[in-house]
Amino acid sequence: MDEILHIKNLSKCYGDTKVLKNINISVKKGEVVVIIGPSGCGKSTLLRCLNGLEEIQEGEVRLDDQVVNPNNLSKNREKIGMVFQSYDLFPHLTILQNVTLAPIKVKKRNSREVEKEALELLERVGLCSKKDDYPRQLSGGQKQRVAIVRALIMHPEVLLLDEITAALDPEMVREVLDVVLDLAKEGRTMVIVTHEMQFAKAVADRVTFLEGGKIVEEGEPKKLFEKPETDRLQRFLQTFTYEKAVK
Ligand code: ADP
Repeated sequence: MDEILHIKNLSKCYGDTKVLKNINISVKKGEVVVIIGPSGCGKSTLLRCLNGLEEIQEGEVRLDDQVVNPNNLSKNREKIGMVFQSYDLFPHLTILQNVTLAPIKVKKRNSREVEKEALELLERVGLCSKKDDYPRQLSGGQKQRVAIVRALIMHPEVLLLDEITAALDPEMVREVLDVVLDLAKEGRTMVIVTHEMQFAKAVADRVTFLEGGKIVEEGEPKKLFEKPETDRLQRFLQTFTYEKAVK
């Protein structure tokens, strides 16, 4: 009833290669769905389809009652926020300018009001003191927190996070994941691709394991991580337990 994102029989091809095969996922308001799987299984492609950045060949993606596809990209953008591994901040703009640019230019919101909100959000992620700095003056973890703020200020209904800690040094991973855990606690609807399994377990309401473009297993995190049903998921999870592997 309160489902907001529907992925129905989605298949996606690049040329003759089908990289997503008959994917079905529904995301409820306030739910956090985490997608895990080996490199190349289609996780990023799936998120890009959810954001309307990719043409899909079969099936559909709907947000509320609106079909998401590259033809109504600007409408999707208003409702779906996405944060990438690579931050993509504008190097010639300050942190505050990076955060306020889209709401002022695209949404035509009042600049004072936007600035006030930007400062509140930056404060929340511990970065208000960096507002006049340029991205090059920030660490990777700080830049990624700014990228999250930049997505939040657009008031998205759904936030998509694509391996947002993959390029960070280990000591910075935590500070970014803590922000995401906070967002989950406040009831944000999110679809998250991550290789951080402890984080996935902590943040997810549901986990989906993809392999070869297909959903192989899905369910509640406790069950999925502690009692995986398929050999494929068991093997995948074992790749994260180094100590066991070397015994
Ligand atoms: P993951 O995020 O799980 O690592 P991707 O979604 O990036 O996987 O990729 C899924 C498959 O699609 C891979 O085989 C990849 O090589 C292929 N692929 C991704 N993007 C493109 C593209 N733009 N053109 C052709 N093939 C692509």
